[in-house]
Amino acid sequence: MNTLDARALAALCDKETGTAPRGPRRAVVLGASLAGLLAARVLHEHVDEVLLLERHALPMDLGPRETMPHTHHTHALLARGRQVIEQLFPGIGDEWMAAGGRLGDVGSDALFYAGRRRFAQAPADAQAICLGRSAIEGVLRWRVRALPRITLVSGVEATGLLGAADRSAVTGLHWRLRDEPAGDRRTLRADLVVDASGRGSRLPKWLVELGHDAPREEQVHCQIRYATAYLQREPQHAPGLEAVICAATPDHPRPSVLLSQEGGRWVVTQGGYGEDAPPLDREGFIRRAQEAAPSELAAVVRDAQFLCEPFGYRFPHSQRRRYERSSLPAGVLAIGDSICSFNPVFGQGMSVAACEALALQQALQAGAAIDRGLARRYFRAAARSIDIAWQTAVGADLAIPSVQGERPLPVRLINAYVAKVFDAAQTDPDVAVAFERVSHLLEAPPTLMRPAMLARVLSARWRRPADATRPAVAAA
Ligand SMILES: Cc1cc2nc3c(=O)[nH]c(=O)nc-3n(C[C@H](O)[C@H](O)[C@H](O)COP(=O)(O)OP(=O)(O)OC[C@H]3O[C@@H](n4cnc5c(N)ncnc54)[C@H](O)[C@@H]3O)c2cc1C
Repeated sequence: MNTLDARALAALCDKETGTAPRGPRRAVVLGASLAGLLAARVLHEHVDEVLLLERHALPMDLGPRETMPHTHHTHALLARGRQVIEQLFPGIGDEWMAAGGRLGDVGSDALFYAGRRRFAQAPADAQAICLGRSAIEGVLRWRVRALPRITLVSGVEATGLLGAADRSAVTGLHWRLRDEPAGDRRTLRADLVVDASGRGSRLPKWLVELGHDAPREEQVHCQIRYATAYLQREPQHAPGLEAVICAATPDHPRPSVLLSQEGGRWVVTQGGYGEDAPPLDREGFIRRAQEAAPSELAAVVRDAQFLCEPFGYRFPHSQRRRYERSSLPAGVLAIGDSICSFNPVFGQGMSVAACEALALQQALQAGAAIDRGLARRYFRAAARSIDIAWQTAVGADLAIPSVQGERPLPVRLINAYVAKVFDAAQTDPDVAVAFERVSHLLEAPPTLMRPAMLARVLSARWRRPADATRPAVAAA
């Protein structure tokens, strides 16, 4: 394991200042949360040294990070995200299971509702893991710490970029120790800086400080509020299910989710748009579930023992920074929420970060690793993964009347078709499975419009309802 504390990093940088010769090829990743850990894993195969800098203290165990309040809320790792992370870290699935994770087929071990429409259940040949965000990330952190060329340093905050005199490249960054007074700037040289500092990233501002344009930013103001509680899981609660998910629809804009978690717990989140905030007191939380959540979820909330009081989160808008359309200096990339952060009800953030890490790996392999074309190769490939998730999330949000935003004709047509998919999925397991595979990012949304699927969806109301459930296939 490679460790360096923040003071040792300071000493290293002090030695580097002046005209000291540049050392081996170095990549610096800003932010050691999910996206930063994945980026470091990919980069370590292509450089001599990866420094992973994190401003906050990091736990050594799988416990929560108090400085990251959103990570206490329900975090579903979609089937595609699990697949990609297991590809990057072979065997990590077993470690997640050893940490208490529970694996389930997204079609047969979960119940999916679109508003009040309950989908037919059928195996989707896709498995997702139910495990708390802290444990998902904690296991990942262990694996990254074990990689020899990666050094994780906490207590260090990046404060700006260093640029070449001709502005063609980023050559490093400014940083400070968290316990030092603001403004005391140190420098660190790097061949590549990867910003994984999350939704509040200051990379756009730093680029402007270096004389470049900030990327264009798109926002969709969903104004969603969350209330989350943890409950004791007992065998009689939602038997045979690992998850119950209720997506918001125009006639029922109250999403909710129940997920099994490590430690014999359930996590339940209820959401509401605009002023329709879910209550944060226990009685109100139970009442809201009885009124608005699927019966299977409502029963758990009514019967199970609460392990904490409900707690809230407000998410004002989804945002996407269009780095793939920007003209960037060489030597700087971004990943994860720093590029795009989605309305959390779709559970996409971690999985999209994983797809971006894969895009980074492919972009590094496609050229001479850190060359001038890297940013173009990477951001274009990352944008393709983001496009799918962004269109799904933004399209679904724009179907909700209270969400502000333009609704051009294609969005209205797609949403009208998606409503028909929801209708058909109640009785047609093939349609239900096709939709679930799209929402788990395993297939692109156009698969729902292939001729055979289109025919099933459009003819659903005239066909005799099929048996709405198929027997689950036991996991091999
Ligand atoms: C309420 C809620 C529920 C969600 N549910 C889901 C879900 O079910 N499924 C899912 O996939 N996603 C979900 N998400 C989204 C998911 O949390 C994010 O997509 C994910 O955390 C992105 O990880 P990240 O590493 O890009 O950013 P972050 O997790 O935000 O991490 C950024 C890191 O950078 C560090 N940092 C910031 N600035 C600096 C700096 N200047 N120098 C050094 N370090 C810095 C921070 O301390 C932090 O560790 C949810 C989000 C919210 C808000």
